[in-house]
Order: sequence, then structure tokens, then C-alpha cells
Amino acid sequence: MRFVSTRGGAAPASLSAALTQGLAPDGGLYVPETWPRFQDRSAPEALPAFAARLLAPFFEGDPLASSLPEITADAFNFPAPLTALDSNTRVLELFHGPTAAFKDFGARFLAACLTRTPRDDDRPLYILVATSGDTGGAVAAAFHNRPGISVSILYPAGMVSPAQERQLTCWDGNVRAFRVAGAFDDCQRLVKEAFADRAITQRFALSSANSINIARLLPQMSYFAASSLAIWNETGAPASFVIPSGNLGHATACVWARHIGLPIDRIVLAHNANRTMPDFLEGGEWRPRPTIATLASAMDVGDPSNGERLRHLFPKLDDLRQAVSAYVIEDAAIAARIRSGFAEHGQIWCPHTAAAAEAYARLSERGEGVWVIAATAHAAKFAEIVEPLIGRKIDQPPALQALPPGRPAINIPSSLAALRDAIV
Ligand SMILES: *Cc1c(COP(=O)(O)O)cnc(C)c1O
Repeated sequence: MRFVSTRGGAAPASLSAALTQGLAPDGGLYVPETWPRFQDRSAPEALPAFAARLLAPFFEGDPLASSLPEITADAFNFPAPLTALDSNTRVLELFHGPTAAFKDFGARFLAACLTRTPRDDDRPLYILVATSGDTGGAVAAAFHNRPGISVSILYPAGMVSPAQERQLTCWDGNVRAFRVAGAFDDCQRLVKEAFADRAITQRFALSSANSINIARLLPQMSYFAASSLAIWNETGAPASFVIPSGNLGHATACVWARHIGLPIDRIVLAHNANRTMPDFLEGGEWRPRPTIATLASAMDVGDPSNGERLRHLFPKLDDLRQAVSAYVIEDAAIAARIRSGFAEHGQIWCPHTAAAAEAYARLSERGEGVWVIAATAHAAKFAEIVEPLIGRKIDQPPALQALPPGRPAINIPSSLAALRDAIV
């Protein structure tokens, strides 16, 4: 299997090359050159074994192919349970990993791949990542103590939750976090500038770990595929999914799972006030805009990168409209749904999951089949938002309790010179 750029201006790349580069040389995002078919309808085995079977065609011919079972076992060392909300509704709990958000799946998979990817480059591998919160924590935890790889995380001062900041700063050794005097967009700009900086790139082979990386998307297909098969075997019908969406990596993975043949019916995207994708589906114009800060901060993305992958798969707007629908859920509705989720179901939802539950509640026509709400983070990560709404303390999950204590932040100004001094 080879991977091609959404912009069509780069040579096809092997999986190893695509995941080491992150972005394609023409600025596009890597997508599979062809689509395998996955037609087996038997009940899924445990996630690591199932994922190795599902993803094998994407690894075919790559040096990593023979390590795939080892990679999925390394990456997916925590469960993804499907729990019942009512007779037609399930919650897919994706927050049982080391940093209690679904990004652990992709970050751990990428780390497991990169540590096994053969390289002929004398420069040490250096992962540089900008984060608005969850990505950085998941990447830091996934790469901590991986031999031969250094990691720096850039996060915006004062704009991540206290729990998230602890998860960024608690590491030692090969992982460092920098608290940048600026916004998320400044962090992202610094990363881009670093990739173009000679002093840095002479010294290190830079790689990125955000959801433009193909090795973060592929593993996310696994639990959508596995849960759709579990529901198929139980009910004989395809399942539909509601997905809290920001940069659209998660949604793209679900669309890809359906595209290769998994029994998935409808896919509904729940966005917060950052409405670029819902407006695109409605008006047909892709109009990125500045990010708006919301309660569901991990979805605060004004220019969702993976929109490019979705538009590549469905170049005709009407086909994309058939493939997904999207809702805008404002903060007031997120807060109200956190309250009612607790009052009516005893569920404690993070703001992102609550946005999905609210989008689900707004669906006018649900049909007969089972619906799955993707629960993307543990509410304890957003305790300062959720606790006042439900009127009680939230217990920390064991994974978060087990993290080392946070350490004093390393503050840097929002300039390339400062970043260069800090890492070279
Ligand atoms: C990143 C994130 C999302 C959004 O996922 P995308 O792939 O960026 O659309 C939703 N919820 C949580 C908790 C996240 O961390």
C-alpha cells in the first residue's frame, strides 16, 4: 500500500515514509492510494488483535508490516468499552488510556510505529508538537522514555486546563513542555517556523505528531470498526455514530472505516461554536476563521486540517453531505447537556462528549438502528467546568492519579529565536 497527497503534487510514499514526514512535501495530507475491503462480519476479537487484522492491508509491503501485531499490542494496552445508555444508544468510552482522552490511541500508535521505523539519517528524531491541551499530553505520555526520540510540546500560557497543564509538565528525560506567551495559533506558527529553520533541522530530524499524521488516523478506525461489528453481531444492523469534532481526524477515521466496508450507517459530527465544517456542508464554501474559545476546548479549531481529507474522498459536495451531517453546539447547550446527562442518566460527560450527546438529542429522524456516542475524554480532565454543573466532585481515574506530579512550567516568549535557544 502506498500513500498519496490530497494535493496530488507529491510522489506516492510508503507508510514508513509518510508517518515519518507527517505532512506531504506539497503541503497536502497523506491518504491511502487505494482502498482495501474489509468484509468479514464476525464478532471482533480483542482490540489489539482485531486492529492488526483491520490495518494489515495499510501496512502491506512496508518494513513495519511484520511488527504490526506488536505495534497494536504496544499501543492499545487499555480498553475501549461500549456501555448502554438506553435500548438504542451506546456510549463508546475512549478515555481509559494514560491521559484519559481518545488521543492516547493515535499518539501511542504513532510512538509504537516510530520507534520501530528503520531510518537512515544521522540526526536524532525530534517530535515538535503544538497543543491546545489533549494532544500534547497524549503525545508526551506516549513518547516518554522511548529510546532515540526527543519531544517538545508547545502550549499556550493560560489557555489549557490545570489538569491538562499537569499532564504536559509532569515528564522528565526525553519530554519537555514549553509554556508559550501567546495563543494556540502562535504555538502552531512556531512549529511551522521550526520546520523551516536551518539551525534546528541541521541538528534534528523534525517530525510532527498532530492529527495530520497518517499514523494517528489509521488506529482510530479500529474502535469504530470493532464497535460497529459488535453491534452488527448483536442486532444484525449497522450502527450510527455521533462524534465530537474539531480538527476532524476522529470523524475522518470513522468515515474511512465505513468506506472500507464496516457496517456503519450514519455519521453525525458535533462541533462547538467553531462552525467551519457545518457551514461548509450548508453553503459549499470552505471558509476557515479565527478560533473561538469554548467549553469544549479540544474542539476549538477554526481551520480543521482533516477537512482536506474528507473533501478529497468526496470531491462533490452532495456526496459529502450524504456521508456526514454536522451540528453546531453552543456553550450554553453543552452546559445544559452536562447537567441533564447527569440528572437523567447518571453520566458524567466531558464538554466534548456532552456536545455529541446534545447533537444526538437534536436528531429529528434516528431510524431503528443502534446509535453510538463517542465519549472522547474523562470529565476529570475538565473538572473546573463539569463539577459546578453537576454539583459534585469528580473522582480522578486511576490513569490520571498515576501520573507524576506537575513541575514548574518552562516559559518562553512566542518567538522562533527563543524556541531555537531552548531546544538546540
Ligand atoms: C481532539 C479532541 C476532539 C476532537 O477530535 P478531532 O479529531 O480533532 O476532530 C474531541 N474531544 C476530545 C476530548 C479531544 O481531545
